[in-house]
Amino acid sequence: MIGEVAKDFGLYTKITGGQRIDLFGARMEQLPAIWKRLVDAGFESGHAYGKSLRTVKSCVGSTWCRYGVQDSTSMAIGLELRYRGLRSPHKLKLGVSGCARECAEARGKDAGIIATENGWNLYVGGNGGFTPRHAVLLAEDLDDETLVRTIDRFFMYYIRTADRLQRTAAWLQEIEGGLDHVRAVIMDDSLGIVADLDEAMAVHVAAYRDEWGDVLDDPEKLARFTSFVNAPEAGDDSLAYVMERGQRRPATAQERAAAARGEAVLIGGTTLEVRS
Ligand code: SF4
Repeated sequence: MIGEVAKDFGLYTKITGGQRIDLFGARMEQLPAIWKRLVDAGFESGHAYGKSLRTVKSCVGSTWCRYGVQDSTSMAIGLELRYRGLRSPHKLKLGVSGCARECAEARGKDAGIIATENGWNLYVGGNGGFTPRHAVLLAEDLDDETLVRTIDRFFMYYIRTADRLQRTAAWLQEIEGGLDHVRAVIMDDSLGIVADLDEAMAVHVAAYRDEWGDVLDDPEKLARFTSFVNAPEAGDDSLAYVMERGQRRPATAQERAAAARGEAVLIGGTTLEVRS
């Protein structure tokens, strides 16, 4: 279905490093039609840009890997379903590896889970980007339930106390007492707040709704998806593209200038062919 939508709307498509599928180049007013196709096929909204859960990367784990000691894929799916839609001070990424070989690069994530013979090790505060950081060990050999409860509390404590746009790595560095303090709060209840953190996460999990579906069901929200508020039927004809590797991408300023001199051919704008 993703491939068909990409073909029908002429979207540039790429598998991301985080196991997601990018679809680039949709115009604002095309989004509801695209979401409807995907929602009808059983997909739901993720968050590519939001300060919220992004991705839970996983390796194949014990299901197919001879080194795997736990089912990392099932754990990753469970965590993604639990934290989907969770808004936070910055993006949140998770990784789950089925053994210490770490194929999911979990220690580069805000919460990195690595399987052991006895359960799961939980690492926190990793990220890539401008200032790469390895996550640090928070707790060892947790069973499934304790692992999930510990991540719940870690995320909720972070969400409640971090500055806006502060990722978990910077938060861990800034917070008084650092990792030891965070461990004491969420594992030993040193501040007497874990019941509150657990409740907050339970509310999030129970209140989750697919945001694409919400827009499609709400005429007021749906009406916002236009390129021009004063001409809702019009597309943006200033958009221009060129073909690259068989897919279209935005034309650069030089390519637009070359087209104006008659030296190159652009495609795009509202005249781009779209299959219905
Ligand atoms: S991390 Fe371990 S279990 Fe997962 S794919 Fe790599 S070697 Fe296999």
